[in-house]
Amino acid sequence: MSLEDHIGDVCRKARLQTGTPIDAAAALAGLTEAQLKEWETEGVIEAPVNVTALADRLGLNAAKAQRVADGWEPAAVDLTRWLELRVVTTAEGFEVNSFVVWDGATREAAIFDTGWFADDLFRISEENELNVQHLFITHMHGDHVAAIGDVRKRWAEIELHSNNSGAPERNRVTPGELVAVGGLSVSARLTPGHAEDGVTYVIEGWPDNAPAVAVVGDAIFAGSMGKDFDTPELAQQKVCEEILSLPGDTLICPGHGPLSTVAEEQANNPFF
Ligand SMILES: [Zn+2]
Repeated sequence: MSLEDHIGDVCRKARLQTGTPIDAAAALAGLTEAQLKEWETEGVIEAPVNVTALADRLGLNAAKAQRVADGWEPAAVDLTRWLELRVVTTAEGFEVNSFVVWDGATREAAIFDTGWFADDLFRISEENELNVQHLFITHMHGDHVAAIGDVRKRWAEIELHSNNSGAPERNRVTPGELVAVGGLSVSARLTPGHAEDGVTYVIEGWPDNAPAVAVVGDAIFAGSMGKDFDTPELAQQKVCEEILSLPGDTLICPGHGPLSTVAEEQANNPFF
């Protein structure tokens, strides 16, 4: 899976988040305004681009931005370390990731976001004879929860977890509280920014001491982050405090693009 955001996307987000005028950004990049727009859209352009000068002005880490421009991608994750974790990618115009986790012994299971369609969630549940008990929502943006009606119809007793202000009190997450999924435990960390109701779920207790898994929604992507033009400082602060503070080998499962790790993002994400 290729990166959710190429270097043009990263710089466009940072330009809008910092309110940097386009003419100033273009001058720093050594491009005309038209060229800068093309580069922001395509991620590549014939002309040489001064990525580091632009990144510096946009509050990005210049060296990391240059690496993304040079084609960095997170090392492929060996998912066999987490036997009871599945990534489900659905597409309707664009792709979104959902995740299924379960306890291999008890078959108790949880779903993280529904994505566009529930078919693959149903299939994985059947193939593995799962007892699906929980639906954890990272944020209520349409792509992440489009199939919520189908999921709730299929599992009428499913317990919903979200931080959406519209959700009934009993469905609201309590940060720090552990929710058991068989022998696994899930804890919620509030990561508002891209979405006001953004939550990161940390799943621990894997067999064979496999590292923790953080389902982050759109708080952070491999090499980028979900857009937040209103409260970008808050978004970055929450990612630092609640996600990048986790152990380096923690698996990051974003709502879009490839999986990554905390160490990988600390070393390569231009926003941090
Ligand atoms: Zn979103």
